[in-house]
Amino acid sequence: MMSADISTANNSYDIVIVGGGMVGISLALLLADQHNWKILLIEAQAMRNASEVTYSPSFDARSTALSWSSRKIYQSMGLWPELESSLSDINQIHVSDYGRVGITRIDAKAANVDALGYVVENQRLGAALLGKLDSSLVEFRGATRVQAVKPLISGMQLTFDDSHSAHAKLLVIADGAGSSTAQALGISSQTKAYQQSGIIANISLAKPHQGVAYERFTDQGPLALLPLTHFQGRPRSALVWTLPVDKAEILMQTDDQEFLEALQERFGYRLGAFEAVGERLSYPLALTTASEQVRSNLVVMGNAAHSLHPVAGQGFNLSLRDAASLANILGDHPETIGELATLQRYYSEQSADQRNTLLFSDNLPRLFGMSSPVVAMGRNCGLVAMDLVPPLREQFARFGTGMNAVGVRHG
Ligand SMILES: Cc1cc2nc3c(=O)[nH]c(=O)nc-3n(C[C@H](O)[C@H](O)[C@H](O)COP(=O)(O)OP(=O)(O)OC[C@H]3O[C@@H](n4cnc5c(N)ncnc54)[C@H](O)[C@@H]3O)c2cc1C
Repeated sequence: MMSADISTANNSYDIVIVGGGMVGISLALLLADQHNWKILLIEAQAMRNASEVTYSPSFDARSTALSWSSRKIYQSMGLWPELESSLSDINQIHVSDYGRVGITRIDAKAANVDALGYVVENQRLGAALLGKLDSSLVEFRGATRVQAVKPLISGMQLTFDDSHSAHAKLLVIADGAGSSTAQALGISSQTKAYQQSGIIANISLAKPHQGVAYERFTDQGPLALLPLTHFQGRPRSALVWTLPVDKAEILMQTDDQEFLEALQERFGYRLGAFEAVGERLSYPLALTTASEQVRSNLVVMGNAAHSLHPVAGQGFNLSLRDAASLANILGDHPETIGELATLQRYYSEQSADQRNTLLFSDNLPRLFGMSSPVVAMGRNCGLVAMDLVPPLREQFARFGTGMNAVGVRHG
């Protein structure tokens, strides 16, 4: 039920964003230089300083493959130059199947793009994003949680755990999968658990990776090694290793040497011998979607709206396209930022992109993750066919770059 408006000038904002992860900060930056909006960004975790961004889950030891569409968006925000020294270009994607001969190589040149993607360590992305946040345009409050949220006639009323409150014409919820803020408003989330975990770690290599991203499909799940910038002169790749939950738990208990041996056995020697492994983290993998994304004065965004299997490296790229689309539409309709019609315009612009990306991310591990010999033979032919049929390959490559996306207007 809606309550009466109790806002004051001090605590009244045009836009409040809950969640200062990759998506929340990116959206704040996209909105910051438009229409002098008064913007508040709330993050549950404490921030030490902008150059040391280590809070999780957004800015932990993971790396992110940014797509071409993300590059365009960050370029339009003037963020790309700050990121460039932290990025490793993906010049080729090498797709293979454990124990079978089918190999597909997707080249940036063949797809007629500069690169198929750009890999950045999340902490460096976080440092660049926070470094760009201008406190005169966005009020950032760390170590603050939303305690209560209430729809009003003219917006949303928020109460924080430090007993402060705020009124927002538009509330954007970007506080991650299974969002507690969305739940407080009666928005549920559906979760499809993959019964798998994703282990991530940085791996030091004996041989340079030459900008090749490896996707290897095994009977236990896909494994990716993405090229990273060198560290102390040594080549590195970022590992995302998807495994059944029990197998991942066992691997997380092994010492570094045992872990590297197990990885080498699964991956082979295309990158030479694996020399060292950095911090290991394990994530339970699930497809989570929110039951609603827009209401009057409300948008649910990022992992709070849709959290995907990481195998195709699409989750953040999709959310950044969502954020750019929302920022464009709000910028075009500054007088009606909380109105349902404006927010529905955003959702209808992005829904096809969301649907396609969800389906792609959901199907890919299933297609390549089955162990039946018949399916295995079929998918092997599929990989070989993809190698022989350029349009198929190109489609795969272009999907990875985000070029097929609907609604990328930024830049
Ligand atoms: C192993 C792995 C690899 C991945 N690789 C890729 C990739 O290569 N490319 C890609 O595009 N995507 C990738 N993803 C997906 C990507 O990480 C997510 O899309 C992204 O983290 C979503 O960011 P977010 O800001 O929506 O949510 P989160 O990262 O979950 O951030 C939410 C933020 O909200 C804060 N918060 C929570 N509750 C509250 C509250 N009540 N009040 C205030 N703040 C709150 C949290 O502290 C956090 O900072 C990967 C994911 C995984 C698991």
